[in-house]
Amino acid sequence: MYLKSLELAGFKSFGKKSVLQFTTPISSIVGPNGSGKSNIAEAFRFVLGEQSIKSMRGKKTEDLIFNGANTTARSNRASVKLTFDNHSRFLNIDFDEVTLERVIYRDSLSEYYINGTQVRLKDIVELLSGAHVGASGHHIISQGEADRILNANPRERRDMIEDTLGLKIYKYKKEESEKKLTKTEENLMQVESLRREVAPHLKFLKKQVEKIEKIF
Ligand code: ATP
Repeated sequence: MYLKSLELAGFKSFGKKSVLQFTTPISSIVGPNGSGKSNIAEAFRFVLGEQSIKSMRGKKTEDLIFNGANTTARSNRASVKLTFDNHSRFLNIDFDEVTLERVIYRDSLSEYYINGTQVRLKDIVELLSGAHVGASGHHIISQGEADRILNANPRERRDMIEDTLGLKIYKYKKEESEKKLTKTEENLMQVESLRREVAPHLKFLKKQVEKIEKIF
């Protein structure tokens, strides 16, 4: 059994820190309408690196942060921690227990942590990709969404297949490399224009050197 616990603090309706321990192979979360069951499913997506706020029923990042209730003040930070048992090394990292954490603040980008060490989203994607887990959500089926997979458009289907095959990280790396290539092309153009700019001056200096060499 891989999943050990999920901790929510300030995420959506979870203003106070709440910890769910998964001690049985199958766990059910029950509660009255509106008590936050779907928010829990969304917390899984969130911590796995989901980038679409819409898929977590929000319009902006702030919608994912606890907005206050009758007796509790609103939070400025939302965090979700997901702990896996990694004795089988299904996650390619040399720890028996792996905790992924994602934190957001009202006015900043997401922070990601693996076992308490801050990492980039790319590291989370890479780690999960090796275990064929991703944020496309094909393994997280929310309420009323059972037909989402059947009705998925070709692009969404491709995302799910890529997640399952563990290809996401290569896609991510390809995008990063393309960005670097574009940047390098810009740099090359700048160097070329600088070279053209200094060329006449270089020519002049060369002639000066030749003249001086002739004198001596
Ligand atoms: P149902 O069974 O009706 O689908 P549910 O148990 O799945 O309900 P959710 O839809 O997960 O419940 O939770 C909805 C509740 O979460 C609503 O009461 C909503 O006000 C609350 N909620 C969502 N976002 C926030 C937020 N940022 N701050 C505070 N409360 C929030």
